[in-house]
Amino acid sequence: MQLCDKMAQMIDTSVRFEKGVGPKISSLLSRLGIETVKDLIYYFPRTYEDRTSPKLLIDLVPGQDSIIKVRVVSIKASRTKRNFSIVKALVEDSSGSVPVIWFNQPFLVRIIKKGTKLLIAGRLERDPYSSQMVIIPRDYEVLTEASIVDPIVPRYSLTEGITNKMLRRMMRSALDKHLDELSDRLPADVLKKYKLGELKESIQNIHFPSEMGQIEKARHRLAFEELLMFQLGIIYSRKNIEKRSGISFKIKGDLIDRFSSSLPFQLTGAQKRVITEISEDMNDHCVMNRLIQGDVGCGKTIVALYSMIIALQNGYQAAIMAPTEILANQHFKKIKQLLEGLDVDVVMLTGSVKTDRKEILEKLKSGDPLIAVGSHALIEKGVDFGKLGLAVIDEQHRFGVEQRIELRKKGENIDILVMTATPIPRTLALTLYGDLDRSVIDEMPPGRTKITTRYIEEKDRGRLYEFVRKELAKGRQAYVVCPLVEISETLDLKAAQAEAKVLSDSYKEFRVGLVHGRMKPKEKDSVMSDFSAGKVNVLVSTTVIEVGIDVPNSTMMLVEHCERFGLSQLHQLRGRIGRGSERSYCFLIGELKSETARARIDTMLRTDDGFKIAEADLKLRGPGEFLGVRQWGLPNFKVADIINDEVLIKQAREAAQTLLEKGILLGINEGSLNRRLD
Ligand code: ADP
Ligand code: MG
Repeated sequence: MQLCDKMAQMIDTSVRFEKGVGPKISSLLSRLGIETVKDLIYYFPRTYEDRTSPKLLIDLVPGQDSIIKVRVVSIKASRTKRNFSIVKALVEDSSGSVPVIWFNQPFLVRIIKKGTKLLIAGRLERDPYSSQMVIIPRDYEVLTEASIVDPIVPRYSLTEGITNKMLRRMMRSALDKHLDELSDRLPADVLKKYKLGELKESIQNIHFPSEMGQIEKARHRLAFEELLMFQLGIIYSRKNIEKRSGISFKIKGDLIDRFSSSLPFQLTGAQKRVITEISEDMNDHCVMNRLIQGDVGCGKTIVALYSMIIALQNGYQAAIMAPTEILANQHFKKIKQLLEGLDVDVVMLTGSVKTDRKEILEKLKSGDPLIAVGSHALIEKGVDFGKLGLAVIDEQHRFGVEQRIELRKKGENIDILVMTATPIPRTLALTLYGDLDRSVIDEMPPGRTKITTRYIEEKDRGRLYEFVRKELAKGRQAYVVCPLVEISETLDLKAAQAEAKVLSDSYKEFRVGLVHGRMKPKEKDSVMSDFSAGKVNVLVSTTVIEVGIDVPNSTMMLVEHCERFGLSQLHQLRGRIGRGSERSYCFLIGELKSETARARIDTMLRTDDGFKIAEADLKLRGPGEFLGVRQWGLPNFKVADIINDEVLIKQAREAAQTLLEKGILLGINEGSLNRRLD
């Protein structure tokens, strides 16, 4: 036992003490999230290079990355006119010969000689100087009689100062020394039932496979374990929730009838379906814990309102919490408007409600049936509900789990409805919502207009402003969004202020308003209402308008520094326009320096389907970042592919269920689950 402990400790020590690492390299490694030996071992390759069957030179396709095995015929170093160092070699195999060019590595002539055998990974390209076809190597290996060539070479994600070769060397030495310290937590019968490899073997093979087939097998086993551990947690917490019994609301009644017949529009089929699902839940005597998911503008508010009316009809209070005061305000107005003539009490509680605060707090406490609309203020201490029956959380992704728990505590076994515009792909939902039931509104209300989306380079800004001017002159309005850089709120503010200044200078005939995070809620609200009323033509803002704002006459959106926004965020922003009958335009302005920034913008130009965008976003960012790890308690899976591993997800779920039934928790404890026990 003692020996075991000691071993376990070794793998948990800093990589710094590993052979060939040291302080400098270990600080570089920490940028990759590698601190301990175990982190290193669990740092898996991004892709692999199959060197088992090199291509013949004659079969090379220009531009395609390939592996070749060649002999050096001649080699020499030279300099270009601009003083770049070039090493050029002629290499051959049985099918022919071709030049190879290395830039800025003059020392190579000391390593590679005439007759040297080389394995080269690289591409056949046209040399701009000689216009000859040449090989540009990405990697090479000198082959000697004694050299052991890895048949398959792992390629890791790197950071500056760490090469793939270095990482490979460190990995090999760490595995040689420490692999035996790993112990497999999966029970033998699970391994057998799902035909999974052992842990050590899988770790070894994911780094240094001897044939391609081993990679998938190893990945399969490691992904299974990740998913299993996660699902154990979810199912465990769900069991706890199910134990609670809740309120059984009556669905039919006079109030709900009057509400339904007073609606100014026909509900969409999707809205009706979701309302039925919610009604069944509310009627049931178990606690409701349901997520409503639907793209921006699909009409979630009405659905929430419908369920709140059910609560009221049964003599309970209902609350809806929004992430910002602006949104709370908007909900308040909208809800009051929709309930006009129905004799329903609607109150609002936000941080800036001061004058009749006491009165409102007393009303809440009295337990009189009412709808409370609010921001975080609703969950503060001193806010007590006498008879809360249902709580709705709007734009769930803006709240932490803790806040959901706080709201739940404001009543006894209340029903909870959370709403999100973040479209979660099906397989991901399968993994994520073991503990939430899910309803999807997958249909838009009729009469939405298509949005034209364009990417605008800085040099075209003048032309863009001219276009915007013409549209403004027709009576339309525009949003201008500046990014929020979390490190410096002050800088953001400056950027937004500067932007507003530039715009008011160039649009003298129009009114330009500014909202930002530092403004008092009252001021924000007044600018927003002016914009809503059409008194302000252009609204410059930091991302505060991201969620929920509804101004149908606003047909243009300009996003500054679009490269700094996430894909789902851009989609949410764009959802602010296209809400009226006029044609709408979204302009993404910025510099696309990175691959991913380009990919994000490409996706925005290609589609406006929230689900497709979410899937692309997931692929670009990984699920952890996509959803915000904190909010959803979703780990950043290292191996599991949450979009494509559907079968594996199901198997892991089944295994988790079986283990739980037997009381086997695999080391998951109460502490690690608390976050999901809300
Ligand atoms: P979101 O799902 O983004 O919260 P909202 O609930 O704010 O969307 O609805 C967006 C707009 O669509 C609102 O102005 C709302 O009144 C309107 N709306 C909702 N449902 C319908 C419907 N069935 N028919 C027409 N308009 C609708
Ligand atoms: Mg909404």
